[in-house]
Amino acid sequence: MSTQENNTKNTKQTVETKIEITEELLARIAPNASPLRPDDEEIVKKQLGKTRGLIAIGARCACGKPAVTITSPRLPDGSPFPTFFYLCLPELIVEVSRLEVTGIMKEMSKEIKEDEKAREAHQKAHDSYIARRNLLGEVPEIANVSAGGMPTHVKCLHALVGYALAAGKGVCPVGDKALELMKWDTSVCHCEEK
Ligand SMILES: [Zn+2]
Repeated sequence: MSTQENNTKNTKQTVETKIEITEELLARIAPNASPLRPDDEEIVKKQLGKTRGLIAIGARCACGKPAVTITSPRLPDGSPFPTFFYLCLPELIVEVSRLEVTGIMKEMSKEIKEDEKAREAHQKAHDSYIARRNLLGEVPEIANVSAGGMPTHVKCLHALVGYALAAGKGVCPVGDKALELMKWDTSVCHCEEK
């Protein structure tokens, strides 16, 4: 019913906080982020089965299809939503799920627990995640909540890989590592359905 209001006729949208989503703001949120294109919302709906509070695309497949969503920290119905970046490209979701079942997250969590450098890097990724999300307005209910298990462990690689793809290399080392393990090449199109 209200999806009509969220129509993506142009790139400038507003969230509940009345912050305008400009390209300049998106560049600060994540270097690979881009404004919504007219058919993005429909594509994401097809990819994920739904869209709620989609405000921009965090990263795209080489063909231009959305690969990572950026969701408003406050959904249109008013509920807080901590997961700012999330994967939506089906081929990538499958790859990450394949990696998850290898038990890699347990290993990564152990490293974060035991290695000071890894722990600090994961904490830094967590802090940066919240700082980026706060650019759209602070949501008190999720003030210190990020995603994917940050800052203490690794719980969901889909969230961390989405973050790494949007923010670029060096921001979320766990997501970077997962992309490396999957040999994910951002310069080629992975879509089965072109
Ligand atoms: Zn593609």
